Amino acid sequence: MVLDSIVGVTGEMGLLGAGVVLMVAVALWLATTLAVRLRQTKNAQRAIESVGSGYWVLNARAEFIDVNAAYCRMVGYTRAQILSMSIADFEAVATQDGIRKQIGRILLKGQERFETRHKKSNGDWVELEITVTAVGKQQAIVYLRDISERKRAAIEINQLALFDPLTALPNRRLLQDRIEQALHNAARSKHHGALLFIDLDHFKTLNDTLGHAKGDDLLRQVAGRLVSCVREGDTVARFGGDEFVVVLARLCVDANEAAAEVKSIAIHILSQLARTFHLGDIDHTTTASIGISLFSNSALSLEDVLKQADLAMYKSKAAGRNTLHFFDPAMQVAIEARMALESDLRSALREQQLVLHYQPQTTSDRRITGAEALVRWQHPRLGLVLPARFIPLAEESGIIIQLGEWVLETACLQLVQWARQVHTADLVLAVNVSFRQLQQADFVEKVMAIVQRTGANPRRLKLELTESVLVSNIEDVIAKMSALKTRGVSFSLDDFGTGYSSLAYLSRLPIDQLKIDRTFVADMESSENAESICVAVISLARSLNLKVVAEGVETEAQFRLLTRVHRCEYVQGYLLGRPGPIADFNALLD
Ligand code: C2E
Ligand code: MG
Ligand code: MG
Repeated sequence: MVLDSIVGVTGEMGLLGAGVVLMVAVALWLATTLAVRLRQTKNAQRAIESVGSGYWVLNARAEFIDVNAAYCRMVGYTRAQILSMSIADFEAVATQDGIRKQIGRILLKGQERFETRHKKSNGDWVELEITVTAVGKQQAIVYLRDISERKRAAIEINQLALFDPLTALPNRRLLQDRIEQALHNAARSKHHGALLFIDLDHFKTLNDTLGHAKGDDLLRQVAGRLVSCVREGDTVARFGGDEFVVVLARLCVDANEAAAEVKSIAIHILSQLARTFHLGDIDHTTTASIGISLFSNSALSLEDVLKQADLAMYKSKAAGRNTLHFFDPAMQVAIEARMALESDLRSALREQQLVLHYQPQTTSDRRITGAEALVRWQHPRLGLVLPARFIPLAEESGIIIQLGEWVLETACLQLVQWARQVHTADLVLAVNVSFRQLQQADFVEKVMAIVQRTGANPRRLKLELTESVLVSNIEDVIAKMSALKTRGVSFSLDDFGTGYSSLAYLSRLPIDQLKIDRTFVADMESSENAESICVAVISLARSLNLKVVAEGVETEAQFRLLTRVHRCEYVQGYLLGRPGPIADFNALLD
């Protein structure tokens, strides 16, 4: 009984106990699980906070469930504020709806990484790299890394590689991209585009006289003014040194209208650049030369447009600077022909293609006193080329030095020939000398060396200079002329009245003769002014005790007017003899 009851009790107790144990176990399990969960969550949160990166938990509708303190710091809002906001409030463009769709996609796919920027409470932006990971089908964990520093560094590197550090304008590399783009757009849209090549005039002088710091200052200010002259979407770039390039986009479809548009912008640029620059305590004025290449849906390459604008810019320089020129195809043809001629000219000297022609100079009673030696070029393809076509080229390229020496030597050899016969022994030969030749430090020595080498009589040699020599160092010119004069060489001032005439200089130059320019002679019958100039030159020469030659005398009327009415002593011109080979000249003497 006792046993039964024990058993019975035990039996009852057994059922009861099992229930209690189960409950305790469940409670224990629940407690531990919760504790573990809690600990896990705490750990997770601690981990999240400790990484310093932003962290969100989102639900499937892309709403915030949680954000961490790091994200709060990034954007400058409290956790409570953020939880009441939506993601779209932070994004620049995305809508909440778009974001919801994106999260929906990620929940299916698993993970996505991208870059974006979020607006901070103070209006600034924070650059972010975002990784979104799906947790089941209902939640996503978003990890947000601040990459502002990295972006800034990338921008700086970009800046260094593509922008000019002095002016902050696009550099040549970025410019190339912009030109390509402009060409592409012009081809597609039918709108014209234009490239302006802008070169500051005499920038080197500023740099040399005021120093590089002032030069840099000027370049920065020029950059600023250029930018102010163009529209958004146009490009102002620094091409190098004092060269800038402006690319204008979306000009008119009609070529003439587009050209007018560019022209007015270019004129505006010139006027802006002509305004005084304040370089510290110095006021400086400068000008620029502009070359323009207009392009549309043509097949021009990047190199083409740059070259065209560059050529046009040189045209502006040649036209006296502070101006603009458009490229035109004729210009290119002319320039290419010139380049070819220049290389031909070098070989002309080597291959003895130059010849001297002789034109008689006579007294007023037509007695020949001598000749002027005039160079010609017997070109293998072009035939006889006159000096107007190659002397300027020879001067610019420096070939004139060698060419001039050849002319002088050939002329001296002719003098030696003439000296051998009585009826030619007194002839004087006039030789044209370029200002470039006179600029050489050893010009006097060179002339005398040729005179001595050939055995010519320097008293029969007359050097013709133009007024352009007066532009350079006048004292130097006078010293060289005087040195040659003491050796017997005489001087004539050619083309008188057309150039830079200063009567003060004229009286100081040791010259023997003035040559009235042929344009005045040509016009004297039709223009009283031209005749007055001839009369004035004749009387000026007389009062300075100089001889006077009228050149370009073609008609009997001119001859009579000059020699009989105005008492000009010497004449030269087609009327008395055209320039020709030595045989022709000698024949005139017989
Ligand atoms: P320039 O020294 O004034 O030479 C006179 C020019 O007038 C020559 O032209 C001559 O042919 C031309 N002429 C002479 N009489 C008449 C005339 O009655 N009517 C017309 N319409 N023209 C006449 P060219 O030979 O073509 O020479 C042109 C210029 O080239 C020369 O002008 C001179 O400045 C330069 N030049 C010629 N030879 C040389 C040279 O050996 N060295 C240098 N540096 N220059 C030279
Ligand atoms: Mg001459
Ligand atoms: Mg002349």
